Amino acid sequence: MTRILVVEDEPQIARALRTSLGANGYEVEWARVGGEALDLSATWAPDCLILDLGLPDIDGIEVIRRLRGWSEVPVIVLSVRDSRDDKVRALDAGADDYVNKPFAIDELLARIRATLRRVRPSAPSSPVLCFGELEVDLDRTQVRRGGSPLHLTPTEWALLEAFVTNPGKLLTHQWMLRRVWGQGYTMDQSHYLRIYVRQLRQKLGDDVAEPRYVATERGMGYRWIYDA
Ligand code: CA
Repeated sequence: MTRILVVEDEPQIARALRTSLGANGYEVEWARVGGEALDLSATWAPDCLILDLGLPDIDGIEVIRRLRGWSEVPVIVLSVRDSRDDKVRALDAGADDYVNKPFAIDELLARIRATLRRVRPSAPSSPVLCFGELEVDLDRTQVRRGGSPLHLTPTEWALLEAFVTNPGKLLTHQWMLRRVWGQGYTMDQSHYLRIYVRQLRQKLGDDVAEPRYVATERGMGYRWIYDA
């Protein structure tokens, strides 16, 4: 059974989450404060955390930082804080996704499923990933669109690889810069990121207005949205 740790200081919300998640087949534990969340993460070994940011003891972002010192357990932030800054800080600290309060339980359940699929794919992962007419061969670093090879620059390939190996996940500008340009990147390079993403989209035949592959999360980053 999949274990979900709900970290929430408001009993009403925690109760509602327990009921909904329990009804959907998850085993649920509840931590009221950050310290308890860290303890339970170590002792109960949850498969996923649903984390409020405004906690009475340690701020939720600090909980993520401390957790990331030793654990890769997926963390979905559930918070009333809805500024881009807060989202980017949480994602850069190592959160996997972000859902705003008030939230629709359907949306939260969908994010949980997507997050869990990403961390433990059900089939042994194939080096060739298919997204409609796109075929991405991770071993050979080749991509085909409708059977014809696409010629990508090394940077475009690095971007595409970052996207397809993190499907559904909101990838922040900082994360992508570090991944593609390495530790030596500077935030000045973020306009290159925009340029390369635009080029990649063109080659993939993606439409910015109605994307099938790469969605822009304004001021925050990008998300590979193709859902097979
Ligand atoms: Ca709170």
